[in-house]
Formats: sequence, C-alpha cells, structure tokens
Amino acid sequence: NKPIHIVGGGLAGSEAAWQIAEQGVPVVLHEMRPTRGTEAHKTEHLAELVCSNSFRSDDAESNAVGVLHAEMRLAGSLIMRAADSHQVPAGGALAVDRDGFAAAVTAAIEAHPLIRIERGEVEGLPPAEWGSSIVATGPLTAPGLAESIRAATGADALAFFDAIAPIVHFDSIDLDKAWFQSRYDKIGPGGTGKDYINCPLDKETYERFVAALVEGDRAEFKEWEGTPYFDGCLPIEVMAERGPETLRHGPMKPMGLTNAHQPDIKPYAVVQLRQDNALGTLYNIVGFQTKLKYGAQAGIFRMIPGLENAEFARLGGLHRNTYLNSPVFLDSRLRLKALPHVRFAGQITGCEGYVESAAIGLVAGRFAAMEALGAEMAPPPQTTAMGALLAHITGGHLAHEEEGGKRSFQPMNVNFGLFPPLEPGTIQKPEGLKRFRGKEKSAARKKAMSARALGDFAAWLSPQALADAAE
Ligand code: FAD
Repeated sequence: NKPIHIVGGGLAGSEAAWQIAEQGVPVVLHEMRPTRGTEAHKTEHLAELVCSNSFRSDDAESNAVGVLHAEMRLAGSLIMRAADSHQVPAGGALAVDRDGFAAAVTAAIEAHPLIRIERGEVEGLPPAEWGSSIVATGPLTAPGLAESIRAATGADALAFFDAIAPIVHFDSIDLDKAWFQSRYDKIGPGGTGKDYINCPLDKETYERFVAALVEGDRAEFKEWEGTPYFDGCLPIEVMAERGPETLRHGPMKPMGLTNAHQPDIKPYAVVQLRQDNALGTLYNIVGFQTKLKYGAQAGIFRMIPGLENAEFARLGGLHRNTYLNSPVFLDSRLRLKALPHVRFAGQITGCEGYVESAAIGLVAGRFAAMEALGAEMAPPPQTTAMGALLAHITGGHLAHEEEGGKRSFQPMNVNFGLFPPLEPGTIQKPEGLKRFRGKEKSAARKKAMSARALGDFAAWLSPQALADAAE
C-alpha cells in the first residue's frame, strides 16, 4: 500500500496518522520541528500544547466539547488516550501535564509499525506524486507552505492573533492570601474540589487593577491592526476596556468561591490560577491571555493579592493564526477542491482549539484511510459533535454564499449552537415539576442532544456503516 503523507505533527496530524495506521494503511508524518521552529512551540514533541494545558469540560451530558471528547474516545483517539493518562486535577475540566501528554503521543506514534516520521519542513503543497496527503500545519504554518496554499486557492489567508496567558511558579504565590477551591467545590475527573488557587480582590483593588490594565503598555499591532478576536479568547486588557464590570462578570467572577481566610467577607472579584504541570510547580492565570508588553505585565499582575511576589515562568504573548476559507475551498470530506489529493485537517481548516483540531484530524484520517481502502466514507452526521463541527467547516452554514463568497467564515469552537435542533417532543416536562423552561429546559435539551450525538456517532462508526461505505 502507498503511504499517506501528513504534513504537520501537531494535535491534528498526530491523530490523523494514528487513525490511518490503525486502519492498516501506512503513513509518512512530516514534522518540521526541530529543523525549523514556530513562534509558540518549545519542544520537539509531536502534539505539543502551546498555551493552556486544558482540554476544557469533560462533561459529556451538558457541554459540547465534553461530547466531542466522548466521541473521540469511541473512535480510539490517541490524543484522548494520552490526555486521559496524563490528567492533572482541574475541577470539571480535563487538563493534562503538557510534557507527559506530548511525550506519550510521540512515543505511541514512533512505536507504530506503519508510521514513519520525517523531520523537516515541507515547503509547498504536497506534490501529486505523493498521492493522498493531509496538510495539518496549524495556525503557525510555515510561510513557504502558506504561500503555496495561497497560490493554489487564490484565497487571501487571514492572519490574526490568539493571546497566551502567563504562568506563575507555585512557590511564589502567597497562600496566606490565596486559597485552594474549585468553583462551587465542583469535583471533576481526578479532582478534589480544591483544584484552583483563588486570589481575592476588594472593590478598591479591583478598580485600580482594571485601570492599570487599561493603561498598560501594549505590543503594537503594526500590519495586524484590526485583527478580529474571538469573544472566548479576548485579551484581558481588551475585556477591561469594555467596561469596569466586564471582568467581574467574566474571568474574574467571584461566584461559587468563599475566601478561606475571611469567609465572612465576599470577594468583589477573584483571579483563578490552574495547575499547569503534573508536579504542581506551575500555575497559569485563568483567562489572562494578554497583549500587554512583557515589561508591563509583571508589575500589573503583581497588584493581585497573593501574587505580589509572583515569579513568572512565562508571560502572556501574541500569536498568529492562519486558516483557510474552508467552506469555499474544501469539499465535504476536507479535500481541497482544486487539488483533491490534498486534504486539510486541524486548526488551519477553521476550527478552534486543541480538541477540535484533534477531532478534525481524526475525521480527516478516517476519510483518507477509507479512500485508500477503496471506500468513500460518509461524513459523521451533523447531530454528532464531530459532524456539527465538520459541517461548520465545510459549508454547513450559508453566510459565505449570501455574501457572494466573501470571507464571512470564522473559526469556531464546538458548541451546541452548531447542532441541529431536536425533533419536537423529544424532551418532556418531568413529572412533578411545575415550570419547565429556562435553566431546567436548557439542561434537558443539552442532555438529549448529547445522547443523540453519542448514539449517532456509534452508528457512524459501526461495522455496518463502514461496510456500506465500502460498497
Ligand atoms: P499544531 O498543533 O500547531 O500542529 C502543526 C504542526 O505543523 C506543528 O508541529 C508545526 O511545527 C508543523 N508545521 C508547520 N508548518 C510545517 C511545514 N511547512 N512542514 C512541516 N511541518 C510544519 N487552543 C486551545 O484549545 N487552547 C489554547 O490555550 C490554545 N492556545 C493557543 C495559543 C497559541 C499561541 C496558538 C497559536 C494557538 C492556540 N490554540 C489553543 C489553538 C489551537 O488549538 C492550537 O494551535 C492547536 O495546536 C492546533 O492544532 P493543529 O494540529 O491544527 O496545529
């Protein structure tokens, strides 16, 4: 069998390689590190996490990313297997020891008899003689390849920035002021209900802190001026600028937290830190992605009670994100319409996040493997988290057509808003409940959507569905 070439050994490329090889098809995985680095990667490991160590909620009943985790586990995901075996406590979230996680993915790929890793930059789109290929080079795709993609599609590649949150050494946090507690004492996988470190702010300190953020010296944008941010990943100072209350209702909300040192005094705002490595020596400041200049950051973050003497293992920063106008240029199985031997996978397709990138790697790998085995596999139904995300990427929405093919397509995290509505009558008012709307109804709706997703995903994976595809 001719090998399938994958360019990029990140979250998506590693998962795609694994899925293909597990179907018995050989793979050559091209990864440019360490020959050439990126602005964010620090190691030679495959599937390196460049920022947060969290795979977000692991709740498969009420959170769409939790459903995606569950679907990936059903499909034998290497990324989920490595994440599950390298968890660190993080309330209801699935967070990992980043080095242990990436080392486990790398070891599994290296040990697979059907995968060969080639270290070195691929400077253009995969040539026709390679045959079936997958480009999974991520938001920091090397410029030569990015240029070659632009030449083939004629599309303007859109560049914008994600911002990364600072990491603090645990032993520099003042636990006479800060305390351990998960919001609402929630106990997640491997957690204790005391997974976060919380720093309390009174009204006056909060107001001074917000003012300092707004006034802080920022990195210049230059040619990237006007870069659109995602609402889920706004720099902390941009949130602060939106109004004095914004942070108290966002990453600094005090709800569900009681100051262990002063239980009678309700904090006006709270900064949370989450464990960043298995040893527990590093903690990241949750939601504090920033484009403040390095020189300004330490001084401002040390205004937070408990962090007066904080030592930073890493300050926040800014990074490029390159992605394709996929609804226009990719078909329903992630093939480039102009060059159908090339598939795309991961964040470069316009999904957002580690889990989503790996999920799109998983499905691209399955499509490519089945194609090599002579079958055209149906995309997962849109009722599944993976199918909903894929539909968003490959044209499940109409906006780009309405606007005459212009770039209205924006990257997206998986969310229940991408799922088709439930059939009428799917959820019934539970007996004995007087009212059935608001929160209760929304929870029931999410639960039913999750159950539908997992059932439909299992059917998509079933031997019968695969046999049908092979016919
Ligand atoms: P990557 O994991 O980046 O993998 C791409 C790989 O391709 C890299 O290993 C790279 O070295 C290689 N490569 C690139 N070009 C070439 C070439 N020409 N030849 C050979 N190899 C090449 N998501 C989250 O969920 N949480 C976060 O906190 C988060 N923070 C982020 C912070 C930053 C700074 C950035 C840029 C992104 C962040 N993301 C985050 C978004 C995204 O989920 C990650 O970037 C994720 O790693 C994307 O997975 P991927 O496989 O598509 O790309």
